[in-house]
Amino acid sequence: MNIVETNLNLGQMSYGNNPQEITVHHAESSHCSIEDINSWHKENGWAGVGYHYFVRKDGSIYKGRPDNAIGAHCQGNNTNTLGVCFEGSYNTETMPEVQLNAGKELITYLKDKYGISCVSRHKDHMSTDCPGNNFPWNELISGGSYNPEVAVSSTQNNSDNWVSRLQEECNVQGFSNQVVDGIPGPNTLNGCPTMRQGAQGNITRLLQEKLVSLGFDTNGVDGIFGNGTDYAVRAFQGRCGLIADGIVGPNTWTKLLGL
Ligand SMILES: [Zn+2]
Repeated sequence: MNIVETNLNLGQMSYGNNPQEITVHHAESSHCSIEDINSWHKENGWAGVGYHYFVRKDGSIYKGRPDNAIGAHCQGNNTNTLGVCFEGSYNTETMPEVQLNAGKELITYLKDKYGISCVSRHKDHMSTDCPGNNFPWNELISGGSYNPEVAVSSTQNNSDNWVSRLQEECNVQGFSNQVVDGIPGPNTLNGCPTMRQGAQGNITRLLQEKLVSLGFDTNGVDGIFGNGTDYAVRAFQGRCGLIADGIVGPNTWTKLLGL
């Protein structure tokens, strides 16, 4: 399973979401991207996309809000749920098999990750027909399997703003003299210093920002590598199958950069 990381320029969000339930939606739009949804939700006056994940008809999965950010998808239930939205308008359409299978993988993965047993539809919580009368609900919750090697990759055709800022900062601090192109590669990796608890500064801040965007709570994005960041690094390392030692060296940077 591959979850595509996005670069959505989300506004100020509230954190502290404690996922105990997954709530599914349809986009009620036959063809849309997560960027479309992000701009629609911004028009609502929200920070951006209200969902945590978006599953497209081609089976690709996109990251929306960080998992620990409070969502904007199910009024009254946004502080303890993960919102998963499916591209399509499932009052009239039929879900493609590849999208259904991707949804099953994602749901199974999230249930395992957070120990969640409850999966619901938007309409189970409030008066709406979301995710649509044709939504293959029973099939979706019948279970699935996923590849535990979760690769979070950057969107290919868009240079990544976070990578650019990291490249720039590594140059400024003298760790590298690389082209700032937003595209992670060997030079980016070589320019990333090994970091551990006690580090401070802009690279620590970028590390924290990345961990938070991946759903790991660093207890603040303050540029200080303290207990919270150490805990988040170890959790991230554990999820990636690395030794959870809290030391951000080449192996951990490789995963953070999506290489
Ligand atoms: Zn909905």
